[in-house]
Amino acid sequence: MNIAILALQGAFIEHAHMLSQLSVSSFFLRKKEDVERPFDGLILPGGESTSQGKLLRELGLLEPLKQSILEGTPVFGTCAGLLLLAKKIENDERTHLATMNICARRNAYGRQLGSFFTEETGKGLGKLPMTFIRAPYISNVSGETQILAQCQGRIVAAREKNQLVTAFHPELTKDLTVHRYFLSMIRERLRNKESSAIPIFLPSH
Ligand code: GLN
Repeated sequence: MNIAILALQGAFIEHAHMLSQLSVSSFFLRKKEDVERPFDGLILPGGESTSQGKLLRELGLLEPLKQSILEGTPVFGTCAGLLLLAKKIENDERTHLATMNICARRNAYGRQLGSFFTEETGKGLGKLPMTFIRAPYISNVSGETQILAQCQGRIVAAREKNQLVTAFHPELTKDLTVHRYFLSMIRERLRNKESSAIPIFLPSH
């Protein structure tokens, strides 16, 4: 298994550390040619969604990555990564990859509460430590999106088929639960791919 981590800006190294603790290989995706490399999953890190969106467009990465997600590549967006995936951002006119049926609010916790730490129980995930840094929350979900966790009555983790998002940063904690969950999504996809592959029988001479 090999995972591509978008590494244009923000907290991408931390995700590589989490994956290496889980003995999973990864590489930093920075340019168009990197999209040609085989990868089984994609991580969109936290940082600044407007800068990341701008760079995605300028480097010609937006369309190929969007296509790959729409074709079913498992993707995990943290914080700014969540905003890149949102189909709607309440307080921003611009959207980016816009593949996930969520509506998000940027910098949603106000100035004083820009950064904080808490713990909440995620659906089927147990207790999750949550580090928020000028985080968005999800104000609305639609389609087949499932809510995975809430904090202060706001949605902070969700999944829609191959897309997983958290408003918080699991990669800035020691807890590997969310990354393990993402790996299970990738394994699920790899299994489905295998079972739908058409077997080729060669005549044995
Ligand atoms: N505030 C950032 C944005 O709007 C997200 C913050 C983060 O990724 N920690 O893009």
